[in-house]
Amino acid sequence: MKKRIIAAALAAALCMSFVGCGSKTETAAETDTAASSAVSETKDDAPVKSTQDEASTIDYLALVNKLNPLPDNWEDSIETVHMTNSVGDDVEVEKKAYDAYLALKADLEKEGIYVDLDSARRSVAEQQRIMDDFTKEYGADYAAKTVAKPGYSEHHTGLALDLYLIVDGEDIVLNEDMIQYTDIWAKIHEKLPEYGFILRYLEDKEHITGYGYEPWHIRYIDNTDTAKEITEKGITLEEYLGAAKTTDIAVDLGSSELYTEEELKEMAVQVKCKFAGFGCELISIRYAGDEAATEENLARVNAADDGNNYVKVAEFLTDFHTPKEGTAVFGADEDKKDYTWWLAQDEEGGWQLVDWGY
Ligand SMILES: [Zn+2]
Repeated sequence: MKKRIIAAALAAALCMSFVGCGSKTETAAETDTAASSAVSETKDDAPVKSTQDEASTIDYLALVNKLNPLPDNWEDSIETVHMTNSVGDDVEVEKKAYDAYLALKADLEKEGIYVDLDSARRSVAEQQRIMDDFTKEYGADYAAKTVAKPGYSEHHTGLALDLYLIVDGEDIVLNEDMIQYTDIWAKIHEKLPEYGFILRYLEDKEHITGYGYEPWHIRYIDNTDTAKEITEKGITLEEYLGAAKTTDIAVDLGSSELYTEEELKEMAVQVKCKFAGFGCELISIRYAGDEAATEENLARVNAADDGNNYVKVAEFLTDFHTPKEGTAVFGADEDKKDYTWWLAQDEEGGWQLVDWGY
């Protein structure tokens, strides 16, 4: 039962982000980590503790994503501060990123926009603990599908910050609520580069970043010129660093009498997020058509995942190209056609990626 609840909560996040992000749909992860954090007694915004006295020697442009782990010795090199947010959570942030955040926050307040930090740094050990807990409770397969691999979350850097909004004195912390405030986010995003931040998970770039659009997840890069360039070009950090596996992809949502365009888009985002971890070049993604939504296929996805009772099923297909050096799973320099992805809808209405492969 617990699994179902957690799965539904995850599906509510655009890209199963408790893996990468500390959003408020990540109930399980947050409960696990909150207890272990050293909670500071200090009021809002006051840094209370430095983990290190020497100057930071970290690379502020470091790329950490589903393919690139946290650089060696990172956790020994960063200097962090702890703060307590408006809902009483302890949040740990890299020191320069925190100073820049405070400047951004003060600037926003002049325009009547109020933000706070939902979460920032999560150590590799914390992520490992989440992975271990999930493995113990639900098995290794489920854990591997749902929890980000320890070492591969940008939140390990301390440079990734998840904001939340305070609107009319009310804390807006749930992803599905926050995402409604498009005007406020637009104003926030406009100011990011001035303070050395970029918006990290852009819309329609899921196949590159591995995450759906997250207006709240910002990344400190410690260079306002670079932040301006990345923002003006509308590119991701992967693209700026020449590390994107994919350029343009063809997306064909087809036509469906069963599913809305919105649903099909959400499904495609989930496929693209997972694909980003393959390390291959995505060429096209398409909806396989309503004819795949059979009772037989529904029974099959239910059999493949016995903790859930799915009510609908949909199939997507992708074409992609494997890299010259190959991957752990795929051979070198191969064209892959019609690689299949199965998505299923649970009783709460959330769509989840259930299975993929030939
Ligand atoms: Zn995040």
